[in-house]
Amino acid sequence: MRLTRYFLPVLKETPAEAQIVSHRYMLRAGMIKQASAGIYSWLPLGYKVLKRIEQIVHEEQIRAGHIPLLMPTLQGADLWRESGRYDDYGEEMLRITDRGGRDLLYGPTNEEMITDIFRSYVSSYKALPLTLYHIQWKFRDEIRPRFGVMRGREFLMKDGYNFDLTKEDALHAYNRHLVSYLRTYERMGLQAIPMRADSGPIGGDDTHEFLVLAETGESEVFYDSAVTDLTFGDRDIDYDSVDQCAAIMEEFTTKYARTDETHDEALFNAIPEERRRVARGIEVGQIFYFGTKYSEPMGATVQGPDGKPVPVHMGSHGIGVSRLMGAIIEASHDDKGIIWPEGVTPFHCGIVNLKQGDGDADAACENLYAQLTAAGLEPLYDDREERAGGKFATMDLIGLPWRITVGPRGLKNGVVEVTSRRTGESEEMSPEAAIARIR
Ligand code: ATP
Ligand code: MG
Ligand code: MG
Ligand code: MG
Repeated sequence: MRLTRYFLPVLKETPAEAQIVSHRYMLRAGMIKQASAGIYSWLPLGYKVLKRIEQIVHEEQIRAGHIPLLMPTLQGADLWRESGRYDDYGEEMLRITDRGGRDLLYGPTNEEMITDIFRSYVSSYKALPLTLYHIQWKFRDEIRPRFGVMRGREFLMKDGYNFDLTKEDALHAYNRHLVSYLRTYERMGLQAIPMRADSGPIGGDDTHEFLVLAETGESEVFYDSAVTDLTFGDRDIDYDSVDQCAAIMEEFTTKYARTDETHDEALFNAIPEERRRVARGIEVGQIFYFGTKYSEPMGATVQGPDGKPVPVHMGSHGIGVSRLMGAIIEASHDDKGIIWPEGVTPFHCGIVNLKQGDGDADAACENLYAQLTAAGLEPLYDDREERAGGKFATMDLIGLPWRITVGPRGLKNGVVEVTSRRTGESEEMSPEAAIARIR
């Protein structure tokens, strides 16, 4: 992409309404624009990152054997009356009436709708195990939308639902989700710690939240510092293996890590003092096992091996796709701007032409652009007629992992400069070597 043909409305001033760094940088880098309280337009750069996050979530869900579908944003109230949640859910639910006087709502979550889909088609235990998920916009009329996309009212969520014959099978689905989430967050350059949590209006007994440690997080968390040493890495895992998934679940959840809702002073104080941590975190996902809470009232039963009908055991599992963008920036930035982890960066590298209009510099930039593109990478070429300082500031703000700086002086010696956004280190090398470095 050439910057002169792109739409990147960078702001010079720091917007006064933004209280936390991710919100400030997303506004300044022209990634989002507020449409109304807690509702945002995703401008091209923000949209690009959102799609990359979404893609990672899809890939890891599919790897775990979960099946994508798409349910609508608007739901009929009747299903929610069946589960009893139409009245229980409260003020966060946006209720809408159509011209025929029918009650609709903008889905805050989809347990009812997915249970209805399931019961309409599945009648035998032979179709199990089954996990269906979608990535769809949700609406929750949050009392205090704030921090930009972090606590929006309209937000993008991945929500998945498992259907199993027994509690044991459903707990395997729970563990499988935990493993897939660990992989998902790590691919985004994030450490998200599973913590024992409280189930809230979804209901159920077993639940873990995934928290990214950050001072601006809204949750208070208590943990054993040893949990921050755990990484999933690139281990090979067989998602069908009950034992493997259970072992990883155990590894990542045995050490003390809880949110304030489930915090237990006595257990916490049993941890050696130097490892006790009280901090703040951003909730980027949550997994639940809730058994037959929806299948029973809604009649989602299958015929078991003995021919008798049994209500299926279910769980639901969410990832805050749009919130993740804020969480990633909170975890990865400096005073000049965002530092994108490679996994979610909107462009692989920037090309800065120090002297736009200079024949050699222009040709070298075009050449780099063509070769990077041919190598399957997406460069952002700053081809504006602007001072070098202004171009560098834009690149630093939007945080691409690599910057290639091209100027007439370097070209005389056959070199360009490659700068890592994360370390700030620069190195001169031939254009060919620069391409090899970035690949
Ligand atoms: P919170 O405690 O932050 O209100 P929640 O527990 O109500 O979140 P869940 O029902 O667990 O949310 O939804 C799954 C995920 O969706 C959350 O872990 C979070 O990452 C994301 N999410 C929830 N509410 C919002 C929101 N208002 N804006 C952006 N993302 C959200
Ligand atoms: Mg909430
Ligand atoms: Mg919560
Ligand atoms: Mg939650």
